[in-house]
Amino acid sequence: MENDAGAGPPGCQALIDEALSLTDPAGEPYARRLSGYFAPTLKEDPAEAELASHRLMIRAGLIRRLAGGIYTYLPAMLRSIRKLERIVRRALNSRGAQELLMPAVQPLELWQESGRDRKYGPELLRLKDRHGRDFAIGPTHEEVMTDIVRRDVRSFRDLPLNLYQFQTKFRDEIRPRFGLMRGREFIMKDAYSFDTDSESANASYRAMHEAYTEIFTRCGLRFASVEADSGAIGGSFSHEFMVLADSGENTLISCPSCGYAANQEKAELAGYPVARGEESPLARVHTPDQRHVPELAGFLGVPESSIIKSMLFVLEDGGPVLVLIPGDREINLVKLENALAGGRPRLAEPGEALAITGAPPGFVTPVGVRIPVAADRGVEGMLAGVVGTGEEGWHYTGARPGRDFRVDSYHDLALSAAGDPCPRCGGPVEVRKGIEVGHVFKLGTRYSEAMGARVALADGTEAPIFMGCYGIGIGRTIAASVEQSHDKDGIVWPMPLAPFEAALLPLQTQNPAVMGAAARLFRDLAALGVETVLDDRDERPGLKFKDADLLGLPLRVTVSERSVARGECELRERATGKVTMLPLETAAAAIRELRDRAL
Ligand code: ATP
Ligand code: MG
Repeated sequence: MENDAGAGPPGCQALIDEALSLTDPAGEPYARRLSGYFAPTLKEDPAEAELASHRLMIRAGLIRRLAGGIYTYLPAMLRSIRKLERIVRRALNSRGAQELLMPAVQPLELWQESGRDRKYGPELLRLKDRHGRDFAIGPTHEEVMTDIVRRDVRSFRDLPLNLYQFQTKFRDEIRPRFGLMRGREFIMKDAYSFDTDSESANASYRAMHEAYTEIFTRCGLRFASVEADSGAIGGSFSHEFMVLADSGENTLISCPSCGYAANQEKAELAGYPVARGEESPLARVHTPDQRHVPELAGFLGVPESSIIKSMLFVLEDGGPVLVLIPGDREINLVKLENALAGGRPRLAEPGEALAITGAPPGFVTPVGVRIPVAADRGVEGMLAGVVGTGEEGWHYTGARPGRDFRVDSYHDLALSAAGDPCPRCGGPVEVRKGIEVGHVFKLGTRYSEAMGARVALADGTEAPIFMGCYGIGIGRTIAASVEQSHDKDGIVWPMPLAPFEAALLPLQTQNPAVMGAAARLFRDLAALGVETVLDDRDERPGLKFKDADLLGLPLRVTVSERSVARGECELRERATGKVTMLPLETAAAAIRELRDRAL
């Protein structure tokens, strides 16, 4: 690379070269010059980016898109990724987990064995080799892991065992978006635990939960661990780790009084105020043009909660089911799927509703239907509900379940909302948004049974291994950090994940005194292990400041004609905007101290 230390005094270039030659124990350089560093920045927002993190990561020269949901990590981004991986490694290794690396390409037979080839559906990217054999690119590795363990783990003496990897996964997401947040190809840390019994599996789970708490705390993220649904992975219980951010795709329910926290998909609703009404006869009432709950409630002069919404769903196995829920409540599709046998429910198309129930869309009635009827518990206590009649423009009032229409089963089917009673303590719950960055599952014996992973126990009998699995989205965690921490000017990195810790800005690169002071500081910072980028470009100060704010390194150190004349440099903290003047002589040590405190 061309040397260009501006108009530095003799020895200036040697100091810069010395800084550039220093690396951390992993071989990662402490110092880089911005000129020639491959971090191409953009002045304009990329059109396709909806989320701030996506926009900023492209503009700051961290990522580039190759195809939908498929990205290149540019050098600065890769530094952040490596840092996060080190934080994760430390937390897992210190708990006895062992790192390995499994293949990305997996024989499809393994997925047939576990029965997940169908469940994963089109998200599983399948391919054939030249012999026509079927393979998949791993979206996750429970099958491969179980296969490894069933071959080589025979005895209870080999357990407990915890194996993990950092690996590129592929999921053919239907809507890849938000950059690294929901990609198709992405790096995941996935860990798998193996135990002889349920109790020991619980201990493994708790250790991983603790490791995750340590990891996300170390990253400097604001996050919550919430109870979660086990979804396609299957298993007995699970927690998700959510980075708190208003733009998050997940809704969290939490109770400030007792600490209960759950994904809204999972959050139980022990009960909520129901408009019982007074028992009255069923009456057919003309309700012209009243289609929506609020209008209908206003028209009839009843609370929205006494209106019963009748929704027709079709299950994956083809069976229709009529679902009833109070008018002021929303249906929770995950709870609905878990409550009914028959697979994923989807709302029936208008044509299907007419064909199945004979009612025009929006006027389906539970009165007299022949298909199964499932209702939310809120419907159970109603004495005088309002339901459709099956004809446009008419409703029944005074409808009572059991008396006027049949309900086959009652379940907790509603989404919990702010102010609802906490299922643990009854206090009012809060609603927040979050980004799922980590997920821990207790799998039990679901995979070991399906795939025959068994061990000999101490008493001579044999039993299936108890498993757990634990994922962290590496790219998503970094994107979530940017989403949680940025301002109008750019990224505001937390120290532990920042690609570099400090930006060093000599403002007049043609001034020998300025360049001399900057070169010395650059060398001293690198020698103290402070990761520093030297903005040695011959550019206007305004542009340098703008780029520094955009990349958002935690510490900005400016050397100018004026500051050098006073023997000082200016330190500005990106997160707070706090400015301190430091004597050039002791600046590097002071900056290192500040860095250490933020790690
Ligand atoms: P989501 O509900 O967001 O689709 P998931 O439940 O499918 O995620 P897991 O199977 O639990 O995800 O995977 C473990 C971790 O991998 C997630 O917590 C997340 O951090 C990350 N992850 C999952 N899907 C993606 C994706 N498409 N892009 C980036 N990271 C992902
Ligand atoms: Mg998940």
